[in-house]
Amino acid sequence: MKKTHAGGTAPASLRWTTYFLSTLLTLLLIWLLGFFLSDIGDLTGPDFQRVTERHVDQSLLDRTSELAGRIREVDTQITRQREIQQNLSQSMDNARETMKQMMDLHRLSLEQKVAPSETEQQALATSQQRFLDAQDRFESANAEIVSSSQTKFELTEEQRLVTGQVEAQHRPAQEEFDRLLRQHRFKVASFKLAFIVPLFLLAAWLVYWCREGSYRLIFVSLLIASFWKVGIVMFEHFPREFFKYIAILAAIFIVIAFFIWVLWKVAKPGAETLLKRYREAYASHLCPICSYPIVRGAFRHAIWTRKGPRLLTSSENATGSGGGLDSPYACPSCGTSLFEKCESCAAQRHSLLPFCERCGTEKAL
Ligand SMILES: [Zn+2]
Ligand SMILES: [Zn+2]
Repeated sequence: MKKTHAGGTAPASLRWTTYFLSTLLTLLLIWLLGFFLSDIGDLTGPDFQRVTERHVDQSLLDRTSELAGRIREVDTQITRQREIQQNLSQSMDNARETMKQMMDLHRLSLEQKVAPSETEQQALATSQQRFLDAQDRFESANAEIVSSSQTKFELTEEQRLVTGQVEAQHRPAQEEFDRLLRQHRFKVASFKLAFIVPLFLLAAWLVYWCREGSYRLIFVSLLIASFWKVGIVMFEHFPREFFKYIAILAAIFIVIAFFIWVLWKVAKPGAETLLKRYREAYASHLCPICSYPIVRGAFRHAIWTRKGPRLLTSSENATGSGGGLDSPYACPSCGTSLFEKCESCAAQRHSLLPFCERCGTEKAL
């Protein structure tokens, strides 16, 4: 009977401090639980590389990279030959120009009936030879480009085939990897729930068990933090369509549980709540059962306002008759006995409060 409700009778400042501290504790607990859960989430999952190795033929992969290497080589060769051709055409142009000049000179000498000198003939022959050489080399570069292009075509074709084979082998690998990943996620979710759900249930039990105790708020903090984390884990690990059902069912369950508790409290208030209600009613001079004003003693002629009884002057009081402080009193509205004779000291005492205000004798309510 002497139990005090946490915050129930404490001064407001202290009460707010406890609320503040429990909010702070809740946040810290959420933080701490977050660390635990993320550590659980760090379990190593399936390795894509290894799954691929199981499904895809290594020789095919080797062949793919070999083909890619060779195609690169052939490309380099073709580019090289094109560069050579460019240089050659430049020198062919030069040679052609020189040859033309030489032939002009030659023709001029013939017209003037002067035989071209040995040197001039030699130069003409050399320039002709140079032009022909360059042309030969240009042609051979061309031939090489054609052959390289053919090789490149063949290699590309083979590469296409091999890539197709590798992709075909990749598909089951991807499927297996997806399956393993789903399994892994489910495992992580189970571990997380296996950690957080018992904690949540423990907190719920502690709150219930300690519902009248002073440390209730600590457990309430734990309950809120763990409940929050249960929600987070479910949201992260269950497919959205499952989660929405789980979430709404959990919310409905909690609301119903709370509702039942409130209804139960209203219908059958605990001794503590009842006593608190009686205490407050007596203090504001109202019948604890039906809230009708207690018109007794000095309050007999008081006027009840919204803020409570307003007493009239003492002279008016004195004229009042009956219903004094020394006689028993029952509520004129509901008939409940509100003041009665004390068994011990015979003075008038509150019928619905445990102790006599004169002698302090306790009475069973
Ligand atoms: Zn009453
Ligand atoms: Zn008494």
